[in-house]
Amino acid sequence: MARIVMKFGGTSMAGTERIRRVAGIVKRQQEAGHEVAVVVSAMAGETDRLVNFCREASALYDPAEYDVVVASGEQVTSGLLALTLQALGCKARSWLGWQVPIKTDDAHAKARIEDIDADALIASMASGEIAVIPGFQGVSPEGRATTLGRGGSDTSAVAVAAAVKADRCDIYTDVDGVYTTDPRIVAKARKLPLVTYEEMLELASVGSKVLQTRSVSLAMKEKVRVQVLSSFIDEDAPAADTLPGTMIVSDEELANAEQEGSDMERQLITGIAADKNEAKITLTRVPDRPGAVAGIFTPLADANINVDMIIQNVAKEKGETDVTFTVPKADLPRAQSLLEERQEAIGYYRLIADDQVAKVSVVGVGMRSHAGVASTMFQTLADRGINIEAISTSEIKVSVLIDSDETELAVRVLHTAYGMDAPA
Ligand code: ADP
Ligand code: ASP
Ligand code: MG
Repeated sequence: MARIVMKFGGTSMAGTERIRRVAGIVKRQQEAGHEVAVVVSAMAGETDRLVNFCREASALYDPAEYDVVVASGEQVTSGLLALTLQALGCKARSWLGWQVPIKTDDAHAKARIEDIDADALIASMASGEIAVIPGFQGVSPEGRATTLGRGGSDTSAVAVAAAVKADRCDIYTDVDGVYTTDPRIVAKARKLPLVTYEEMLELASVGSKVLQTRSVSLAMKEKVRVQVLSSFIDEDAPAADTLPGTMIVSDEELANAEQEGSDMERQLITGIAADKNEAKITLTRVPDRPGAVAGIFTPLADANINVDMIIQNVAKEKGETDVTFTVPKADLPRAQSLLEERQEAIGYYRLIADDQVAKVSVVGVGMRSHAGVASTMFQTLADRGINIEAISTSEIKVSVLIDSDETELAVRVLHTAYGMDAPA
């Protein structure tokens, strides 16, 4: 017997017919002898709909009231799943964020989980009851509803799994695992049996939305065993316990699997991700003197605007340089007005903003021991006439900024260039 937390995303919960299928999967897991808790998302499209209502009600909406509105999507699906499980003869009940409670800080709309009081949940699970928990929701120190940021139900699931000391956290979604790249963009993407926490963290943070970044860092920190698998399965599909999806594993587990030959097909690059949520800002003719760059980035940092890629061009004119960097698209208007206010103090000539850019990244722990990953990337893009506007690297990742119209082409040609295409 094991204790399992199962999470179902929006597409899996989209409507009563799909919820019935989910209930069947949950019931089978319990019949296999396990203690089960389930974390659910709102129905697909529902959170977008609720966010739009908030925008229509007030352009500069109060994040605390936004949370009251958007947390409701998960309340509906948790109640519906509990009802459906009961109709199948299972003992089940819902536990809203404040009832568990899932305690968060008060950063409304992007709250962080601080603590989960799991005693009541554990007792309920041990009694044979299926605990159904709405993802995405928490409760602030003041007792108000909070939400964890878009895609946050993954983090709810991992946090619940850590709190109840689950043996495994199964993240059911609309694809049957983590692929070498988004299988909806590249038909030849291959499913990965194993991905390390570190690789998954990089992939998520550079735009692979299959798992929310925070859920992966939490799983890594709390050593939660996470599997990504599909809820779009027949009754005779292999059971979740046979690990049909992708397991997120430690470096040691990966090394052991490689030694045993069970992960032979691994390439130098594990995955490719694309992100269209960044915008580029160039400041021209910035004075080339100490303090000039700090004068640009300090006000952005003070305003909580994350700067990602940065390049400083060789001075064209003596004593002047161009500085280019990226910020989240949503923060572009704020960044622009902060910098325009400081044009004289910084001493730049022009500010050029461009939100038609995309960041394409290749990720893999193999990069640590192999040279040439970046040059393959640059050459492959050059061969297709794709211009690179900025570059950033980490130990296991190379990212380039390109024109957003060329995103899909870039991902496809890189996938082929690194030998990752599935056999035809
Ligand atoms: P859910 O609603 O279940 O949380 P998401 O839409 O958040 O599902 O995440 C699943 C989607 O992530 C897939 O449909 C797929 O298009 C996308 N995706 C992006 N990169 C990858 C990848 N490397 N492997 C698998 N899926 C990916
Ligand atoms: N429903 C929320 C969203 O769409 C949370 C989630 O599904 O993970 O962002
Ligand atoms: Mg998701």
